[in-house]
Amino acid sequence: MIQNYAGQDISDYDEYKSQNRIVSTEESEEDHDTEVSLRPKQLGDYIGQIKAKENLKIYIEAAKQRGDSLDHVLLYGPPGLGKTTLAGIIANELGSNLRITSGPAIEKQGDLAALLTNLSNGDILFIDEIHRLQRSVEEILYPAMEDFSLDIIIGKGPAARSIRIDLPHFTLVGATTRAGQLSAPLRDRFGVLLKLEFYAPDELGEIIKRNARLLGISINSAGAAEIAARSRGTPRIANRILKRIRDFAQVKGDGIIDGEIADYALKMLEIDDKGLDSIDRKMLETIIKIYGGGPVGLDTLAASIGEEAVTIEDVYEPYLMQIGFLSRTPRGRCVTRLACEHLGMECRGITEPDSDSRQIDLFEESDGSEK
Ligand code: ADP
Repeated sequence: MIQNYAGQDISDYDEYKSQNRIVSTEESEEDHDTEVSLRPKQLGDYIGQIKAKENLKIYIEAAKQRGDSLDHVLLYGPPGLGKTTLAGIIANELGSNLRITSGPAIEKQGDLAALLTNLSNGDILFIDEIHRLQRSVEEILYPAMEDFSLDIIIGKGPAARSIRIDLPHFTLVGATTRAGQLSAPLRDRFGVLLKLEFYAPDELGEIIKRNARLLGISINSAGAAEIAARSRGTPRIANRILKRIRDFAQVKGDGIIDGEIADYALKMLEIDDKGLDSIDRKMLETIIKIYGGGPVGLDTLAASIGEEAVTIEDVYEPYLMQIGFLSRTPRGRCVTRLACEHLGMECRGITEPDSDSRQIDLFEESDGSEK
């Protein structure tokens, strides 16, 4: 049996690697503890996302001045960019309690009714993955969000009657990686919609230096810049890489993460200078080699590389699209010449997508493009 540092059996290394992908944007158990301690608590400590932050500051200030609850807030964007963190900051800035749940965790109408009736005035209810709420549960939310009331049916058949319960004035903060999948009635009930963007390298560099300080890791500017450039614009990945590289610095260097150690460690971890790992490369290479650069449908692509279609859509694609390596056209996924050149492959057959097959933003309304 082969074990990793945590004693897990990793005899099937490929399986282990795919489950423990270092550039995955999804939160792993390994991340959880540090994430909680690294989350900034005040808006002033939240680095980047200037547009979202400025808007939020005004809304929070206005709600405080009015002595009223903040309007419902929808945060959307790829995983790992700081949506949960921002929900915590909103609660802190308002001096309110934060209740956290997620779309899939609320199975029945009664679960949500119980949550809502236990809130107090001004409380923040955070629902992560809100696009995964069941439609019947969602219907309870409409009057709750709009009029702070809950309609409950008591009894069955002809004797059934509906009663209305008043709810405290709470603020719903919803987070989603798929704004396009939210139903229109739900989306319309949010007064504040904030889109989180991938972070610029200098912002990520700042986050890395701050977190290194909090974790007691020594790092210089060149080290932080190297990690920032290769973290796919995502703080969750930057944090994870930072922790891994600490070990390399300890064993291979003098404990300080500088540019050289960071580059060495990232090479060992098979993360290239654009932040792509072996799975990204495999996906792009497959599209080029087997499908002549595309277009290829999502399901076909998923089957070819042995990944789930939703993982490709939520985890791999957003960043590849952001850096101009992949485009999503109505006819399927296409690799760009830029990506092909980055991979050092033969690019003669690769054409840029035609002008009529416009790029589709993953986070906007779905327009029935090929899946
Ligand atoms: P999401 O909910 O969007 O998946 P999280 O809020 O869980 O993302 O953020 C993941 C981690 O990234 C947090 O633990 C936090 O340390 C870090 N992080 C995210 N955004 C910021 C930021 N703007 N400034 C500093 N750290 C951040």
